[in-house]
Amino acid sequence: MIDITLLGTAALFPLPKRALTAAYLFCGGHGILFDCGEGTQTAARRAGVSLMKADIIALTHYHGDHVFGLPGLFQTFSNLERTEPLYVIGPAGLQKAMEPILKLAWQTSYEIKLIEIPPEGLKLCELVKGWAYEAKLSAFPTEHRIVSQGYCFTLGRAGKFQPDKAQALNIPITQWSVLQKGNSVQVGDKIILPNQVMGAPRKGLKFIFSGDTTFCESLIDAATGADLMICEATFGENEQEEVANRHGHMTFRQAAETAKRADVKQLWLAHYSHKIIDPREYLPNATAIFENTICGKDGMSTTLHFED
Ligand SMILES: [Zn+2]
Ligand SMILES: [Zn+2]
Repeated sequence: MIDITLLGTAALFPLPKRALTAAYLFCGGHGILFDCGEGTQTAARRAGVSLMKADIIALTHYHGDHVFGLPGLFQTFSNLERTEPLYVIGPAGLQKAMEPILKLAWQTSYEIKLIEIPPEGLKLCELVKGWAYEAKLSAFPTEHRIVSQGYCFTLGRAGKFQPDKAQALNIPITQWSVLQKGNSVQVGDKIILPNQVMGAPRKGLKFIFSGDTTFCESLIDAATGADLMICEATFGENEQEEVANRHGHMTFRQAAETAKRADVKQLWLAHYSHKIIDPREYLPNATAIFENTICGKDGMSTTLHFED
């Protein structure tokens, strides 16, 4: 199960009732914050979300509206006497982009580690102890005015444990949970692998955070079959497509087209231009293409559950 909270839905600058676009994912006692613009920590407070359990901050790109909240949040963590390390992930240029931010944060009560995601994605339990064995974060390139990437979080689901097979292999019951957690065990002189006692993997969960991007194939590919996609939709009118392309953004219609082609289950729109007073006014432009579109609202949240 994964809890997702949309902390903000604004683009460029925060408004009195609209924080900058960011999202928080919480799974099994651990969290990932996606982007951190000015005011993200207060947006989290309003949404009733504690960011202290965040192990990772995943940045989509280094425009100010996605990173200027970092120094303040780093300081808050120190004030709250955080000791667990914090991993910051971002596209190429992370070190350089973080230099002035880390200078502002000065001394922290915990370690800030800058890391890049390998092409095959990051198995989170290998980074931080306690993450679900099947949790994985990967990045995919998007198309914006500067180097940018979106994120895909997946929570895999192992097949059902088959006790008859375990018994046939003489595996002591005390070792069953080790196999169920995806580790091998030794019985006598034999190594037993989890797939010898587990059924075929079942359908897991998938969450996509687009970051800022134009309409692009890499987002469609990455989002294929996602349970939820939070997607940027900076412009409301279909006629603004040319402006959207030029600025490295999307319209409501293009976000819906992405969701439709990727066959996602649900689409939440975010990153609205300040000129959009009420996003619901433009919602029909999206629902005409992809029905299960929701206008993202600051503080809205959902829980994604495994099927059956
Ligand atoms: Zn932006
Ligand atoms: Zn941007």
